Amino acid sequence: MDLLSGDDHVIVVGAGLAGWRFVEALRRDGYEGALTLIGNEVHLPYDRPPLSKQVLSGKWEPDQTALATDELVSSLEVTTHLGVAAQQLDVATTTVRLDNGTSVAGTRVVLATGTRARQLPLSAASSLHTLRSRDDVVRLTNRLNTLAEGDPVVVIGGGFIGAEAATALAARGLRPIILEAAERPLLNVVGPSVSTWLEGLAPAARIELRTSQQITDVLANDNGFVVHFESGDTLVAPLVVLSVGASANIEWLATSGLTIDNGVVVNTDLVANESNGAIGAIGDVACFEWQSVVGTELVRIEHWQTANDHAAHLAKFWTTGEQSTSLMIPYFWSDQYGKKIQMLGHPRPSDDVTLVNGSLDDAKWTALFSRDGVVNGVIALSQPRALMLSRPLLEHVTTLKSALELAPWGN
Ligand SMILES: Cc1cc2nc3c(=O)[nH]c(=O)nc-3n(C[C@H](O)[C@H](O)[C@H](O)COP(=O)(O)OP(=O)(O)OC[C@H]3O[C@@H](n4cnc5c(N)ncnc54)[C@H](O)[C@@H]3O)c2cc1C
Repeated sequence: MDLLSGDDHVIVVGAGLAGWRFVEALRRDGYEGALTLIGNEVHLPYDRPPLSKQVLSGKWEPDQTALATDELVSSLEVTTHLGVAAQQLDVATTTVRLDNGTSVAGTRVVLATGTRARQLPLSAASSLHTLRSRDDVVRLTNRLNTLAEGDPVVVIGGGFIGAEAATALAARGLRPIILEAAERPLLNVVGPSVSTWLEGLAPAARIELRTSQQITDVLANDNGFVVHFESGDTLVAPLVVLSVGASANIEWLATSGLTIDNGVVVNTDLVANESNGAIGAIGDVACFEWQSVVGTELVRIEHWQTANDHAAHLAKFWTTGEQSTSLMIPYFWSDQYGKKIQMLGHPRPSDDVTLVNGSLDDAKWTALFSRDGVVNGVIALSQPRALMLSRPLLEHVTTLKSALELAPWGN
């Protein structure tokens, strides 16, 4: 595949973090050709992590999440189509058909359509709040403003965003009740030990965390909602937030001929169709071959830092042909239960966990994940320095034994 030149026209579908960072990176890397950004939201690109933290807790206005301004868009010479969705991709002609009846034809297309909040088949599904977009959080805060201090708010799902939402609701003086289906929160992400430690943080944060909750339905009534459980019990609340994960926005690519497997499958250079190399996929929607110290696996990672890394990598590859030689080490953080959780790597719930620093009683700790005796992840609660000092453990194969001897996390 040729390097990009001034005669090219790059179309970026999805005006979120990955799409915008890609636009910025292309220009930074010297690309002078045409650039079009298509997004189905009406807003210029904005950042999502503050939505469930600063914005929901009332500390920030939604505008403060902006990543781009009109001035920046015009200085980077980007043509935008906002509030229109891409409906179809013709890979052979690199043409994107939009839902307003028009088409945009280019020479390369970057797929950065991210994910959307997953729904559940509940009777009141259309009246439940989700937390994915800026419009979602505005709708939710408008409704929260009508509640009285101490009112209960049900959050279905105790994952990262559910726990963050509950934390923000508590900060607003409400009474969040998390209903988690699993035995412990994040059990299928961080495994039994870490999920037990996290579960213990909820009471001090004034969050009622109920686990093993099997919900059969949620019905709307004049005062709000009634949650029905398998046990026959019910729970009444004026407001319910549904936070049960995300699904990749891939349906519009069904006829494209690209390989789709829970996301758009790309190679290590983030290229989706190796035959002509003109289609790339980045960010939450990309299902990519990830090389780590424990091998190569196909993963889709919904992390802010991964979207940034993907954007920089694909822009560099298309403008210079340079392939990244270093391992990408996924990084994630989450502010929940009044604490900051940070994680490096992409561990599995079945990995071994070793607490290496701090104490559970102080709610400050660092732990290593390992698989077959090789360190493949680091997780820290309110110990950002220890986490970053431990990063080299993931840059090359490090056994758990030698990690414990090196102890890079300090005291
Ligand atoms: C509330 C919240 C809090 C988060 N907090 C953290 C955190 O603390 N730490 C962390 O690491 N990560 C966090 N994340 C995850 C992080 O924000 C995502 O990884 C990141 O936004 C991914 O960027 P993206 O551009 O791939 O996808 P998105 O940000 O989802 O952007 C994709 C864009 O494409 C648009 N789109 C979809 N389909 C189409 C179409 N057919 N045509 C045109 N446009 C389309 C979407 O509407 C969206 O605007 C959080 C996410 C959310 C929602």
